[in-house]
Amino acid sequence: MLSCKKLIENGSEYLEGDLSRWERFKYKFHLFMCKSCSRYILQLKQVISMISLSPKKKIPQDMEDMLTKEFEESMKK
Ligand SMILES: [Zn+2]
Repeated sequence: MLSCKKLIENGSEYLEGDLSRWERFKYKFHLFMCKSCSRYILQLKQVISMISLSPKKKIPQDMEDMLTKEFEESMKK
């Protein structure tokens, strides 16, 4: 089973389609089971779609940190 930590670390690769079919399957399965992660991926998706409108196309590190932090908070509850 994919851990939450690993999923979060490779969240942008997942959304950008840089993972193999098998990896994507594991991600989907985890997201189906795990509310915290699916929320995180949803937010990350929004950030990426925002960024893809700009010419830089890279997630700012502080934005990713912010999402990760929020994710960790939601895990504590
Ligand atoms: Zn998870």
